[in-house]
Amino acid sequence: MKVLTGLLLFVSMLAFADDADYAAARAAMVEELWLYAQFVDDPDETRISDAVMASMSTVKRHELVPPSERRYSYENRPLPIGYGQTISQPYIVALMTELIDVDGGDVVLEVGTGSGYQAAILAELVDHVYSIEIIAALAIRAKQDLERLGYTNITTKLGDGYYGWKEHAPFDAIIVTAAASHVPPPLIEQLKPGGRMVIPVGERFMTQTLLLLEKTEKGEVITRQYGAVRFVPLTGEH
Ligand code: SAM
Repeated sequence: MKVLTGLLLFVSMLAFADDADYAAARAAMVEELWLYAQFVDDPDETRISDAVMASMSTVKRHELVPPSERRYSYENRPLPIGYGQTISQPYIVALMTELIDVDGGDVVLEVGTGSGYQAAILAELVDHVYSIEIIAALAIRAKQDLERLGYTNITTKLGDGYYGWKEHAPFDAIIVTAAASHVPPPLIEQLKPGGRMVIPVGERFMTQTLLLLEKTEKGEVITRQYGAVRFVPLTGEH
């Protein structure tokens, strides 16, 4: 009995050390993002807000990457998540979250669930996140991981996000985390007047331009460009 108790204590101490190590690595990543943002940000346009930084400090990226990548979880770079896909670079996640300028009552659509990390970052900030993933194995894994982590305000589904998610539209904001050749018209339709969409647009397997679209109250769309990014392609039948 004594041996068993000792063993349990040892295992729980190891788990705690693990969690504390990841928390320290996450804090260091956020510190690095602050420095990075000072360097690349246009102060008037894309300073990463405290709220977004707080979300980056909270979400456990290491719980959403494959075990083989876990030790790199808090490096500011994309990581492979299997099936030829990636979890995005933390700075790009923060920037895209910042650009859509969400608040507590918002309902947001994400196209490209991948690991579920971007959805979790958004879930800390908004009322509800709907997220669509086209690869079944990733959709299943992300759903399970997000449930295990206790996110009750994220709804995921397997499908082609090009067409959006009509039943839950219109959305206050839309975030597309795969590179499209053009802005999908169904997504523009499903954006609320006054809403924002961020999407990388350009050629497959090249760099793309990060676009921010704002739909005015009159339904006009104003587009701004936010530099070069590199995303995996938006796939599907369209
Ligand atoms: N947001 C993800 C995260 O936080 O891990 C990273 C997304 S990864 C860069 C792009 C994802 O978009 C991939 O998982 C890919 O399978 C998915 N994807 C590509 N085309 C799609 C489509 N038409 N509809 C939904 N998901 C799509």
